[in-house]
Amino acid sequence: MPDRLRDHAHAVAARSHVPYVGPGVGAAVLLADGRWVDAARIEVASFPLSIPALQGALALALLARTTVVAVARSTAFAPADLGVIAEAAGGSWLLAAPDLAVRDEADLPAVGDRVASVTEVGALTAEAGAALALEASRAAVVPASDFPVGAAVVDEAGRVVLGANVEVPTDWTRGLCAERTALVAAVAAGLSPIRTLYVACVKAPGGTPCGGCRQVIAELAPDCSVVLWRDGETPDFTTPAALLPGAFDGRALGR
Ligand code: ZN
Repeated sequence: MPDRLRDHAHAVAARSHVPYVGPGVGAAVLLADGRWVDAARIEVASFPLSIPALQGALALALLARTTVVAVARSTAFAPADLGVIAEAAGGSWLLAAPDLAVRDEADLPAVGDRVASVTEVGALTAEAGAALALEASRAAVVPASDFPVGAAVVDEAGRVVLGANVEVPTDWTRGLCAERTALVAAVAAGLSPIRTLYVACVKAPGGTPCGGCRQVIAELAPDCSVVLWRDGETPDFTTPAALLPGAFDGRALGR
């Protein structure tokens, strides 16, 4: 089991978005039913908006709503990482190897299939894309706010991945918005270039991305269209440039 999970962590590391520091890092999370999710490191010019591979993979794992039993990373864990995993996934955790954390006393299943994340949708109407984001919001993990948001990212080839917001009530700083979990999934799955980001804010139709997401969108998908669900009315269209005028895109920092 460990070697296959490690293989997935190393494979996704190559997809990291690391224009500033690097190196790429990948994390793969094994669920109790044998499925797994993965994520790669995403660097953002606004330092703390960067998304570590571990944070991204745990967020996607929480959206799968199945007990997390093991986590592999392409680089060794730091001692504090066990606390990060425990806060997100519950339970107590121990290091079985420098790059492998396991839930205490868990039966580890064989590593099966990746949680299905990519669907081929081809061309979408704005309404259909917004409906996908709305559907995605049903997976939101929002124990603190009860404010579900969904997002769908579509690339040039017509492939789509979904995201929803994830909250870690014991540490508010480790949550991720729907737009960002969708972008984490898009980076991990190799979707590029990103053409459209759909967002459905169920309790605030027409709601717009938060400031943090605007920066992340401006860096990862600067040329995309952003389509905002409006509860049965024609969706609103905007762009990263309109959402964040004069954005600092980090190119001056790039290696
Ligand atoms: Zn946000």
